[in-house]
Order: sequence, then structure tokens, then C-alpha cells
Amino acid sequence: MKNFKKYLPALILFLAFETVAVSLWLALDNLFYLFNFSYIGTCIAVGLAMYVSGKKYARRFVQFAVGSYMLVYLGIISRENMQIEGFWYYLYMGVFEAATIHYAVAKIFGPLLFGRGWCGYACWTAMILDLLPYKQPKAPRKKKLGALRYVMFVLSFALVTALFLTHAAHLETIMFWLFLGGNVLYYLLGILLAFAFKDNRAFCKYLCPITVFLKPMSYFSLFRVKCDESKCVNCGKCQRVCPMNVEVNNNSRRRKYGTECILCFECVKECPVKALH
Ligand code: SF4
Ligand code: SF4
Ligand code: SF4
Repeated sequence: MKNFKKYLPALILFLAFETVAVSLWLALDNLFYLFNFSYIGTCIAVGLAMYVSGKKYARRFVQFAVGSYMLVYLGIISRENMQIEGFWYYLYMGVFEAATIHYAVAKIFGPLLFGRGWCGYACWTAMILDLLPYKQPKAPRKKKLGALRYVMFVLSFALVTALFLTHAAHLETIMFWLFLGGNVLYYLLGILLAFAFKDNRAFCKYLCPITVFLKPMSYFSLFRVKCDESKCVNCGKCQRVCPMNVEVNNNSRRRKYGTECILCFECVKECPVKALH
């Protein structure tokens, strides 16, 4: 019974994904949605089960299983632009397909429920960046650089808008090559920034345009790391291990960099008095 309780959240999560999978399959009459959401739900549920049974690489397992599926299968094999340009493209086309559904679920409305879980468990850019040597940032954040994400956001929108306004030919092919080129650019910039700032997640903090959606929505996230401030002894360990510099020992939603939390639980593992949960 104790074991069942331990794995209950994983089971609930799996069933939630299955509900989405079956609903979309039947509503849109497309078997792809059954396969897609069942696969993602299974990976996340297995990862959660691994986490509760103390497996060290549970998060990395989910990150690779989901991230590489999206990059390789959806992006390269199925030629669906899953980057932000793809989102604008399908919006302009008025198509509610994989990329728009993906953005709605993982990056716009989903964060109201699970915050920036996408960034911790599924993003194929971070999947590679997390392999670099600077898991814990070596220096404080460069506050002003965060504005660059808005520049990237506007540029991505302007690029796709220009393609539509100029009635560019072979748009689908252009979007496919944009996806490949965009990913190469993200990886190069991400690796460069990680070494420049000695911080694996520097790209996420300063450049990633998707955070323009993720940050405001995750402020209201139902699921978040909470701190029992009466237990906290202010040792600072949680902030030292946090890849996103979150002031997690402050329980308020207004905690510094609170909307940057990727739910990796490194802080929870590190807290000596179990004040975080
Ligand atoms: S901030 Fe952007 S690059 Fe970083 S994990 Fe999130 S979506 Fe991926
Ligand atoms: S270490 Fe804690 S506060 Fe920092 S990102 Fe991970 S879960 Fe969030
Ligand atoms: S690790 Fe725990 S005790 Fe130390 S500052 Fe963070 S919450 Fe407080």
C-alpha cells in the first residue's frame, strides 16, 4: 500500500496524458495524437516513478526521451517546425496542428499547472546545454541581458510575418530549413553563452524567446517548490545549487527569479532541514 501511494502521482499523470491523448484522437480523428501524448505521458510517468524511487538520472531520462523525440521525430522526420517560428507560422495558417497544440499545452496554458516543467524535462535545447560543465552558475546573473529575450521574440515574429506578407514561395520548405538552422543557431549560442558566463542555462536566462510566454504563465503555477520558512536555517545551499538562481527559500510567489524555476528539485535534495517540498 505504501509503495502504491508512492507511485500514485506517476499514475495520475499518466492517466491525465492518456485523457488528452484519447480526447484529441477522437476529436480530431487523428491517430497521431494518441501515439504522441501516450508516448510523452509514459516518459514523464516513468521519470516521476524513477524520481520517487531515488534514481539520480530520472530528470535526465525524461529530458532525453521527450526532447529527442520532439527534435528528431516531430521536427526532422515529420518536418514540423516546433520552434517559435513554427508557432507563428501555423497561427497565420489558422491550423491547429502539432506545433500549435504543443505550444498551447507545454508553453502557454500548461505552465499554469506545471510551471516551467517543459524547461526542466522536455526542451531539446536544454537537453544538450545541461551536459555542459557549469551546472551551478559561477557568477550572479547579468540582469539587463534578460531584455534580449524580447528582441528575439519580436525578431522571430517579424521574420514569419515578412514571409507571409511577401507571399514567399515554398513556405513549408522554408519553415523546415528554418527549424534546422534555428536549432543549430540555438545550440551554438547556448554553448557559447554557457562558456562565456560559466553557466549552462545562460541561454535560457538571456536569449530564449519562449520565456516570454513561460515566465508570466508560470507565475501562477499551481505546482511549485514551496518553502516552510519556519524550518529554514538560511544556510543558502538551495540557492547555490539552483541552476536558475531562484530565491527558493522565500515562499512568496514574488521570490526573486521565481518564474525561472524549472522544477529540477536540486534544491529540495540539498536542503539539510527538509524545508523545501
Ligand atoms: S528557457 Fe528556452 S531553451 Fe531554456 S529550457 Fe526553456 S524553452 Fe528551452
Ligand atoms: S533548484 Fe529548485 S528553485 Fe532552482 S530551478 Fe531547481 S527546483 Fe527550481
Ligand atoms: S537549503 Fe533549506 S535551510 Fe538552507 S536556505 Fe535553503 S531552504 Fe533554508
